[in-house]
Amino acid sequence: MKTESIASCNTPFLTRTELLRQSFFPAEGKVSRQRMAFVTGLHGDELEGLYVGHRLLSFLRDIEENNPSALKGEVHIYPAVNPPSLNHSSRLWPGLGTDMNRTFGLARPMTLPAQFSAKLLEDIKTHADIAVDFHASNLHLRELPQVRMIDKWSSSLMPLAMATNTDLVWTHPMADLFSATLGYNLNKAKVATLVIEAGICHRITPEFRDQVFAGLIHLMKQTGILDESVSVQGRLKNPLKVRANQVVSIGSKQPGLFISDAHLGEFVGANQPVGNIIDPVRGEVMEEILAPVSGLLFTLREHPLTYAGSLLARIALEKEPPP
Ligand SMILES: [Zn+2]
Repeated sequence: MKTESIASCNTPFLTRTELLRQSFFPAEGKVSRQRMAFVTGLHGDELEGLYVGHRLLSFLRDIEENNPSALKGEVHIYPAVNPPSLNHSSRLWPGLGTDMNRTFGLARPMTLPAQFSAKLLEDIKTHADIAVDFHASNLHLRELPQVRMIDKWSSSLMPLAMATNTDLVWTHPMADLFSATLGYNLNKAKVATLVIEAGICHRITPEFRDQVFAGLIHLMKQTGILDESVSVQGRLKNPLKVRANQVVSIGSKQPGLFISDAHLGEFVGANQPVGNIIDPVRGEVMEEILAPVSGLLFTLREHPLTYAGSLLARIALEKEPPP
């Protein structure tokens, strides 16, 4: 493993912040066919990817030591790309309030987060042909492991996404907010980049750890970075492919506390109870939440406090609805 610092700055109290890359190369004499980057911690409150990064680092160090010929390509892990926010466990860069994943691709990066982003983007473009940018959800929702991609890149990204052992691949239209993200700018630069979202922020979800780790090992095998001597444990999933019109969101009509009756990852039937909104002051059930359609429950509210209009769940339809 080769460690390289790709960006750094001094803090006001003379400690140093560094953005590191951990690189693994094929044994000498072997041809490097594919190069993959794995990025985690772009949002400082999302810890799920940090654990997956740890598993990958440990796994690749073991390969390097005990089975070096199995590594046919290069792997570059960026294990914690937003150190100031991670140190505060906050989504935004402390002090500046900047979302680092909205600072990529700027013509003139003036702020410190934007300068870190510019160096990260250039480094990945130089070192990888394929990338995975790993995210967790926000404070409120827990997500089944899923790949999200913009329509225009779906044909080239879909074969990679289907190898990730996630539950879902969600293809959606472009929106302005994506234009300054890492994923968008890497794909624009022809680095095939999958954005994976799994779990919830501030937590590490046990059941997703092995699933996503196995998916990334499988992806490395599929792309020829690892050879056949490496095995993937467990049965691999065939993710459900959904377009935007197959995603049905359920919102609350009443404020209160959401008490869930359903389980993330289950196939719910139409009109099946998903939970209740309760009134904690007068002891009443304000609203019974029923699934409006049948499908895969892939997003579920974890934080109980709701206001009218809060997102409670998302269901993926197995087929596109008729126009
Ligand atoms: Zn994120």
